[in-house]
Amino acid sequence: MNDLLADAAVRAQRYLDGLDARSVAPTDAAVAALRAFDEPLPETPGDPAEVLRLLDEVGSPATTAMAGRRFFGFVIGGSLPVALAANWLTSAWDQNTGLYRPTPGTAYLEQVALRWLLDVLGLPAESGGAFVTGATVANLCGLAAARHTVLKRAGWNVEADGLFGAPPITVIIGAEAHPSVAKSLGVLGLGRSRVVKIPVDGQGRMRADLLPAISGPTIVCLQVGNVNTGAADAVGDVCRRVQPVGAWVHVDGAFGLWAAAAPTRAPQVAGVGEADSWATDAHKWLNVPYDSGLAFVRDAKALQAAMAITAEYLPTQGGFRNPGDFTPELSRRARGVDVWAALRTLGRAGVAELIERNCAQARRFATRLAAGGCEILNEVVLNQVLVAFGDAARTKAVIDAVQADGTCWAGITVWQGRTAMRISVSSWATTDVDVDTSVAAILRAARSQAGSLTV
Ligand SMILES: *Cc1c(COP(=O)(O)O)cnc(C)c1O
Repeated sequence: MNDLLADAAVRAQRYLDGLDARSVAPTDAAVAALRAFDEPLPETPGDPAEVLRLLDEVGSPATTAMAGRRFFGFVIGGSLPVALAANWLTSAWDQNTGLYRPTPGTAYLEQVALRWLLDVLGLPAESGGAFVTGATVANLCGLAAARHTVLKRAGWNVEADGLFGAPPITVIIGAEAHPSVAKSLGVLGLGRSRVVKIPVDGQGRMRADLLPAISGPTIVCLQVGNVNTGAADAVGDVCRRVQPVGAWVHVDGAFGLWAAAAPTRAPQVAGVGEADSWATDAHKWLNVPYDSGLAFVRDAKALQAAMAITAEYLPTQGGFRNPGDFTPELSRRARGVDVWAALRTLGRAGVAELIERNCAQARRFATRLAAGGCEILNEVVLNQVLVAFGDAARTKAVIDAVQADGTCWAGITVWQGRTAMRISVSSWATTDVDVDTSVAAILRAARSQAGSLTV
C-alpha cells in the first residue's frame, strides 16, 4: 500500500508540473494511444504497480489540462492544492457519509462547511444544505423542496402521493435558463417543456417586468451567472413581486452565486438571499476536485422532507445532521471535506480575492482582445467573455486554430444568434501572464484566418 500511494503521489505531481509545458488539449497521438486500454478483462489478478503505471503512461497524456492555468472552456475551475490533498486523505478514510453516527468525522466537517458556505455566500444562516455531485443535482434538490412546499400549501403530500391528481404547479423560467434546470424539472415530473418562459434582455437577464400575474402553486426559477454572459437576474426584485403571492423562488447560481462573496461583484446579485432555494457548484469557482455541487434551502425541513429516507435499520440522528437526509444519495463520499479544506485555507478574504482576480482577468481578456481587433459581444460583468472573429465560419475556424495551437483552450457558443468563442476564467492558478500569453495565441490564430480581424 505505502509504495503504491507514494508512486501515485509522485506521478500526480509530475503530471501537474508538466501541464504548463504541454498542449492544453491532448494530442491526436495521445488519444489514439488509448487503444492500449482495449484489452480483454484479465482472467487473473495483476500487479497493482503495473496498473498504476499503465494508467499514468496511457491515461495522463490523453487528458485535457483542465487542472492547468490556461483552460478557459465551459466554466471549469482547477483544484486548489489543499482541496486536492484533502480529497486524497478523505478517499483514504473511505467514509460512507450518509449517516452521522457511523461517520462522525466527515459528517461533522460537512456541517461546518455548510455553515461557512452560507456565511460567505450571504445566505440565510438557518438554511439546510446538501453536498451533491453538481449544480444539476443541486437544482434537482432545490426544485424538489419547492415542489414539496408549494403542494403542501395546497394540501397535497407529493412525496407520499406523487403528482397524479395533484394540483397543477405553474413553473416560470427565464428564456436563458440553463438546460440542467429543464432536466431537473423533467425528472421531478414537472415537465421540461410545460413551463412559462419569460423573455430576456440583451445580456440574458429575465425581463421581470414581463412576469405574469401569479396564483396557485408556483415555482419561479431564476439564474445568477448566465453561462455565456455571466449576467444575473434581478433576484431581490423578483422575490418582492412573487413571494407575497406565495411563489417559491429558486436560484440557479452554479458559478454566479460566488459573486456574493466578492465585494465589487456582490451588487450584481443584490437580494439573492431573499430567495427560497439556491444551487451552486464547488467544483467550478471554489476550485475543489470533481464532483462537487451544493444545494441550499431556506426551509431545511422542506429539503429534508423531499430527500430523507427512513428505515428501521438506520441509526437515528441523535441531534446531529445526517448528510444523507438532504441528498438524493444515501451512500455517498464526503464531498464537503474538500469544501471545508478550501474555505479553511482561503478564508473570506481568499475567496473574495479569487473571484475578484478572475473577474479582473476576464476584463483583461476583453480589453486586450478588443484592442487586437476582436469583437466582444457581452458586457464583461463577471468571469465570462464572448469573442467574435467575424462571421460564424471564421469564428469557428479561429476557435479550432486556438485549440489546435494548445497554448490555451476555449470553446464555442452561439449567443443570441452570433457564433462566439466563450472564455471563462475560473481557476485559482491563472495569472495575468497566462491571460496575456493566451491573448497572444488567440490573436495569432485569428490573424492566421484571413479576414477574421478588422485591424
Ligand atoms: C455549470 C452549470 C450548471 C450545471 O452544473 P453541473 O455542475 O455541470 O451539474 C447549471 N447551471 C449553470 C448556470 C451552470 O453554469
